[in-house]
Amino acid sequence: MNIEEYKDVWVFIEQQEGQIIDVGLELLGAGRELADKLEVNLCGVLLGHQVKESANFLYSYGADIVYVIDDPVLEQYRTETYMTAVGDLVRKYKPEIFIYGATANGKDLASAVATEVMTGLTADTTLLDIDLEKRMFEASRPAFGGNIMATILCKKHRPQMATVRPKVIKKPEPVQGREGKTIEETISIKEEDLVTKVLEIVRDTEKAVNLEEATVIVAAGKGIKDAKGFAMVKELAEVLNASVGASRDVVEAGLCEHDHQVGQTGLTVTPKIYFAIGISGAIQHVVGMQNAEMIIAINNDPEATIFNVSHYGVVGDAFEIVPMLTEEFRKVFKGEESEGVTADV
Ligand code: FAD
Repeated sequence: MNIEEYKDVWVFIEQQEGQIIDVGLELLGAGRELADKLEVNLCGVLLGHQVKESANFLYSYGADIVYVIDDPVLEQYRTETYMTAVGDLVRKYKPEIFIYGATANGKDLASAVATEVMTGLTADTTLLDIDLEKRMFEASRPAFGGNIMATILCKKHRPQMATVRPKVIKKPEPVQGREGKTIEETISIKEEDLVTKVLEIVRDTEKAVNLEEATVIVAAGKGIKDAKGFAMVKELAEVLNASVGASRDVVEAGLCEHDHQVGQTGLTVTPKIYFAIGISGAIQHVVGMQNAEMIIAINNDPEATIFNVSHYGVVGDAFEIVPMLTEEFRKVFKGEESEGVTADV
């Protein structure tokens, strides 16, 4: 493989029922920085049916070129069709770097493409950079149980590929009127050649929690001890119209479902306000919430590491402080005059 032939930064633009999902736009923001450092084009890869028109939208988020394959066979995600389409594009246009959202489909596709074009893949990265001297893509992710950040290089194969979790990177502001170029390609596979058929899409309507989109999250850690403590945290969340998050220990104690878990093996969240109640601040939790705009920690241990990442810290017993906060916020939202929180903390 002559790696010199490979250039440009590519981003896989995932769509669901024709709607582009946010992670692709977030990655265009990150990709723009990488492409600018390397002085190459930033390209989006958009597959689907009747999706061509969305290319203009992608230019406004920083794409210079959008490769589009618009075909009924690509309407729904299937590994076989998407892998073939992307593999053909990679072989023809030779990108230097290719990043995908670490969604269920993004992870499936990236790993299939890695085997199809015989290159490496770094999964679930949280930091992307370039070593300009060596012209090498640096994809970093927590490793060894989150105790270190490992920077992974793909030295001998191209493209250098990574998946990035949704919400790890901030979506850039669109620049209206920004223009680019669309390159249309075709896929040779026909529906009758395919063994996998999508018969029906069944939505998980039970899954009411959408922590990744929440503006305010009230999260419980093991310090809340039991179901009574968890109910106390839920009450504060209700008054604030917030979503409830949890550390892994709380999920493992059976106090809530895994959908609520924030962290390395849970979700990455970026709310405006994150209350960390009785959470110690283990790195595996922190990687999932450290990009919140404001972190308010309540912990009875003044040395708790959560205070290293929090903007406001309250040292004290959650069982005293949380009910007081709930009461005060209730008054504020009802328009009653607050007397102020007088906790001895
Ligand atoms: P603890 O660490 O036990 O902390 C409890 C805190 O509550 C303490 O700081 C204590 O001072 C405080 N406290 C106690 N009583 C009170 C009180 N009355 N009032 C106020 N504060 C009080 N963890 C995650 O959260 N998410 C993950 O995705 C995740 N993934 C992991 C993946 C791997 C591979 C590994 C090895 C671990 C992972 N963990 C994850 C676990 C992580 O290492 C920690 O064990 C976990 O985050 C600790 O949860 P905690 O902060 O709730 O509990």
